[in-house]
Amino acid sequence: MTDVYFADLRARGPHENKSQKIRRLFDAAGFGRMVRPGDLTAIKLHVGERGCDTYLRPIFARQVVEKVRERGAHPFITDTGTLYAGSRSDAVRHTVTAIEHGFDYAVVGAPVIIADGLRGGHWREVPINGKHFERARIAGGILDADSMIVLSHVKGHDLAGFGGAIKNLAMGCSPPSGKAEQHAGRPFVEVERCGGCGKCTLVCPQAAMTLVEGRAHLNPEHCVGCGDCMRACPEGAIEFDWTTEIRPFIERLCDYALGAVHGKAGRVGYINFLLNITPDCDCVPWSDAAIVPDIGILASTDPVAIDQASLDLVNSERGFVRTQLAANHAPGEDKFRGTWDYTDGRYQTTCAARIGLGEEDYRLIEI
Ligand code: SF4
Ligand code: SF4
Repeated sequence: MTDVYFADLRARGPHENKSQKIRRLFDAAGFGRMVRPGDLTAIKLHVGERGCDTYLRPIFARQVVEKVRERGAHPFITDTGTLYAGSRSDAVRHTVTAIEHGFDYAVVGAPVIIADGLRGGHWREVPINGKHFERARIAGGILDADSMIVLSHVKGHDLAGFGGAIKNLAMGCSPPSGKAEQHAGRPFVEVERCGGCGKCTLVCPQAAMTLVEGRAHLNPEHCVGCGDCMRACPEGAIEFDWTTEIRPFIERLCDYALGAVHGKAGRVGYINFLLNITPDCDCVPWSDAAIVPDIGILASTDPVAIDQASLDLVNSERGFVRTQLAANHAPGEDKFRGTWDYTDGRYQTTCAARIGLGEEDYRLIEI
């Protein structure tokens, strides 16, 4: 059974604000022992797609940056490029989006370094003993870090059910080609939007994309689903087929989460923020209304235990009406299933525990 530390959101004095609670959680969960002097410490978070405004607050990241620096380590804020074309699909646009969202040195006190390089090509394979994969593609900046603190905004997700620490490790620490492996989908060309520039044919590592009569043509037999063509297209003419079977998708996600912590036994800490619990991932360029009230902040050394505790706390709330939550409003009912009824976020913790990422049993300790 793993300890999960919890701070509620009540505050009636100068020593009870959220920043101080984050610092106390850092100490209570023993993160000070896992970060060593001289470490390059990754602070892994999601800076939010442009248009989303409920991503993790930069001032919260700053508390963790300062705690890491007090240990004599060198923190950096990090994330990886997206599979889809958007405001974070290369390191230049990603860094600009991060700064626009407040993840600037002046605010967070640490540089933003995109872990998978300029165009998502900086990654290495690591061995894993997963259900679907024997190897996972993990961003070089994650693998090269000595220690890591994973800050996760807990919210819903239309495929994974919800996003917490496990998903932040899996999708969040892999390059676009690793994300594509997890989704196991393939791109397709919207021919009427194709201008015939040929840029997709130049970046395709499989020669799967060719020009036929002045329009892009994809050979599905050669395509490995890396998404490079999609990000290269200036017309937005290449889309991705996101449809996938839910359970195998979640299993692939858990495999990749295992890859993200490769080589860092006892060197990764997790903080989950149960604030602005929206129905969608922060990858969407909007923020819908929260489905339950704000709850608090959790810290643990176990990504499975902290996600399980997060799910239990979310489900214990009464759900909001006039939101995307369509069912399961009563306390105790599954809120993310009430939002996305075809998926099952609870399977993430079951599956992750099965492959040894952590344990579902936890003891909640209120600080
Ligand atoms: S997804 Fe990758 S392999 Fe498939 S066509 Fe696009 S660039 Fe080529
Ligand atoms: S990059 Fe886009 S516009 Fe250019 S050929 Fe490929 S699909 Fe068409």
